[in-house]
Amino acid sequence: MSETRPTRPWLPRRVLITRSALAWEHGQAIAARAEALGIPVERLASDRLALGLPDDAAAAYAAAKKTLAVVVAPPGKLRLQPIAPSADWRVDLAEGCPAHCSYCYLAGSLKGPPITRAYANLPAIVAALPHYLGEGTVTSRSTARADEGTTYEASCYTDPLALEHLTGSLSALISAFGAWQAPVQLRFTTKFDAVEPLLDLDHQGRTRMRASINPARFARFEGGTSPVAARLAALARMGRAGYPIGLTIAPIIAAEGWEAAYGELIAQAGDALADVTTDCTIELITHRYTPGSKAVLDSWYPSSKLDMGAENRVEKQTKFGSLKYVYDAGTMGTLKRFFAAEVARHLPQARILYWT
Ligand code: SF4
Repeated sequence: MSETRPTRPWLPRRVLITRSALAWEHGQAIAARAEALGIPVERLASDRLALGLPDDAAAAYAAAKKTLAVVVAPPGKLRLQPIAPSADWRVDLAEGCPAHCSYCYLAGSLKGPPITRAYANLPAIVAALPHYLGEGTVTSRSTARADEGTTYEASCYTDPLALEHLTGSLSALISAFGAWQAPVQLRFTTKFDAVEPLLDLDHQGRTRMRASINPARFARFEGGTSPVAARLAALARMGRAGYPIGLTIAPIIAAEGWEAAYGELIAQAGDALADVTTDCTIELITHRYTPGSKAVLDSWYPSSKLDMGAENRVEKQTKFGSLKYVYDAGTMGTLKRFFAAEVARHLPQARILYWT
C-alpha cells in the first residue's frame, strides 16, 4: 500500500532573526509562529548571522540544515531574473531547504553552509512583481503556454511548501496573485504535501502547483521529503480546490531499472489525478550536474549511491558559459520517447510543457 499520511512538518532546531528582519511585520510573524511551535528564537542585535557551526563537516552540515534564519532579502532579489524554461521570472521567498536530496539543484547555487533563509520583507518582494508584467519570454514564445500570462516561479532557490507552516509566505503570495487583476501565473513545485493552508485561499486560478516526483524506489535520494504518494494526493487536493496543477518529473535518473520505475510512477500519477479536472501540465527534467555542484554534493552526501559518473554523460555548456554534465544523445532520445509515450498513455489530459 502506498504511503499517503501527512509528513511531519520541519521543525528547525533554532531560528535566528536579524535586526533588520525584526523591523518587518512579516519577520515578527515568522518568529511568533516558530515560538508557538516551541522553537527557540534568537533575536540578533545586528544583521550579521553568527552561525557557530561545529568544525566537523558532517556535524556542520547537520546543524546548518536545522537552522532557519529570518533575514531581509538583499536588493538583488528584488530585481527579478529570467528563468526559462520553467517561467518568465524567478521570485524568491526564501533560500535553502531542509530536505536532503542527493542531487539537490541548490548545491550549485547556494553559497556557504546550507541553512535556510526566509525573507522578512515580503511586501517589498510582492511590490516588485508588477514591474515585470508583460515582459515574459517563456510564455510569450510558447503557444502551449500563451494562456498563462507572465509567469513567476517561486521554487528556484527553495521548496516554499516545506517552510509554509513557519513562514506563511506562500499563502500570502498566492493571495496576492489572486487579487492581481492581470494575466499572470505564480508557479511553485514541491516535494512536500502540507497543502492544507492553501486549499481555501482566493487563488483565482492564478497559481499552479506542481508536485516534483520520482519513483518510490529512488526515495533514498530524497531524504526528508514527503513520500511520493503523499505528494500526489496533495496535488490532487489542490486540483480539486480549483488550482491548475502539474507534475515536475525531476530529475529523471537513467539508473538500472528506470523504465519499470518511471512506468509505475506515471501510472501512479495517472491514478492519483484521475478525477481532477483542472489544467494539468508536465515538466520533464533529466539529471544533470556541474563540476561545482558535484563537489558540493559529494561533500554533503559522501555515501550517496546516486550515479554521477562519466558513463552515458556528455559535457554541455550552460547559458552562462560554464560546464554541465547531461546524458548523452542516445540516452536522452530513449528517455524522451519513453516519457512521451507513457504520459500519453496514463495522463492523456495533461500536456508536456518542456523536456530538458
Ligand atoms: Fe533540494 Fe528540492 Fe530536495 Fe529541497 S526538496 S533538498 S530544494 S532537491
